[in-house]
Amino acid sequence: MLWDGTCQHRRYAKSDMKSVPTIRFLGAAGTVTGSRFLLEQDKTRVLIDAGMFQGLKELRLKNWDAFPIKPESINAIALTHAHLDHSGYLPLLVREGFSGPIYLTEYTAKLAEVVLRDSAHLQTEDAAYAARKGFSKHSQPLPLYDDEDVTRTVQLFRTVSFRQRIEIAQDTAVTFHPSGHILGASFIDVEFAGKRLLFTGDMGRNQHPLLVPPDHFPSGHFDAVLTESTYGDRKHESPTNSFRDAINRTISRGGTVIIPAFAVDRTEVILMELHRLIDYQEIKRVPIYVDSPMALTTLEYYRDALHNRSPEIRIEIVSEWSSGDPFDPGDLHEMRSVEDSKKLNDPHTPCIIISASGMATGGRVVHHLAGSLPHSENSVILVGYQAVGTRGRLLEEGALTVKIHGELIPVKAEILAIEAFSVHADSAELLSWLSGASQAPDKVFVVHGEQSVAEKFASTLKEELNWNCEVPKDGQQFPI
Ligand SMILES: [Zn+2]
Repeated sequence: MLWDGTCQHRRYAKSDMKSVPTIRFLGAAGTVTGSRFLLEQDKTRVLIDAGMFQGLKELRLKNWDAFPIKPESINAIALTHAHLDHSGYLPLLVREGFSGPIYLTEYTAKLAEVVLRDSAHLQTEDAAYAARKGFSKHSQPLPLYDDEDVTRTVQLFRTVSFRQRIEIAQDTAVTFHPSGHILGASFIDVEFAGKRLLFTGDMGRNQHPLLVPPDHFPSGHFDAVLTESTYGDRKHESPTNSFRDAINRTISRGGTVIIPAFAVDRTEVILMELHRLIDYQEIKRVPIYVDSPMALTTLEYYRDALHNRSPEIRIEIVSEWSSGDPFDPGDLHEMRSVEDSKKLNDPHTPCIIISASGMATGGRVVHHLAGSLPHSENSVILVGYQAVGTRGRLLEEGALTVKIHGELIPVKAEILAIEAFSVHADSAELLSWLSGASQAPDKVFVVHGEQSVAEKFASTLKEELNWNCEVPKDGQQFPI
């Protein structure tokens, strides 16, 4: 009996003891997409970001893998920003049973809804296409999620202000700070089970033409920092005249300039640059078409943020554009309907077409590429990150043909990739921002970069700051 009693006592003492808090990497480990980081202690589970995998087919298939824990067991989610590789998995979690709050900033909420509805639409279309063509192994191919799942997801959104500490679950508080990456984007200071962690999300640059620079690295001690490393192995070129020159060459040949652009933010940055070049008479005024319903909805939110004097918008831009439109250099055409878009298939006169998707994996830009690539008077200017496995990456690497709608299209048009428009910090910029930490964090996890790039950035951090770095593997779990 005495033995039994001791055992009872020991069992009670054990269950009263809290387990060590941990972090699990459920994506963006050795790759740039699928950001999903799970914080766990006993029954508390908090997820930072819920992104989709994009790019190579083997990555995209991972979106279909069963989530390693029951989604209903997650207490809360915090979202750094609206891009699909950070937000695109949310509707699936909701479909599978998650019903807790999702914390995010006001403009992340607005933009995430646009991004998620577009994603649901594309997936529903893909499933219907697979059913028609009969190439799915399922007799009734299903989308990953649909518009109804998105509606249920946005109902869970809880908007928060920047720089305000807010409790989101037991023993968990978060503070969002502007990261200068896209409208609404944040890095998040997370207090979890007595530990403090920093999630950079995607880190922007000081020179975004519209957005305020990222807040400084918060003061104090951090147990862990998760830093992105998309461009962790290189330095962005300084803005050069190559964008202007390529446009001028194309216009003088009587051709069309196609700019595949991420619908969120890149379209705005490109339009502002075109506005500047036209104002300074560095390029001729030619018709500019924005041919992407998602980009146009986003554009309205950027205009809204500017005219509402959102604190995320640079003060000098707010005063310069108290009236007028920084995005319209005078001949801007917003192509909303499919009929509008089709009219652009053979524009006849020199013009600039900005269309999504940014890596030419889908969307209306694919039709424009199919029509333009075979003709040498045209040009394609790539202005964003092109992931491995995308058409954009093939073009960037000089492919002589690309497959579009099952057909091999010859690439005769001039192809140019310009990194100066990147809204990701490069290696030196990331290092400079991280070195603003008042104390070395106990542990640094380098994520959101292709494997070799993440490793290179981890060694840079070790060499330059003597930080204790790790490049986690997919599924790995660490005590904090
Ligand atoms: Zn992003």
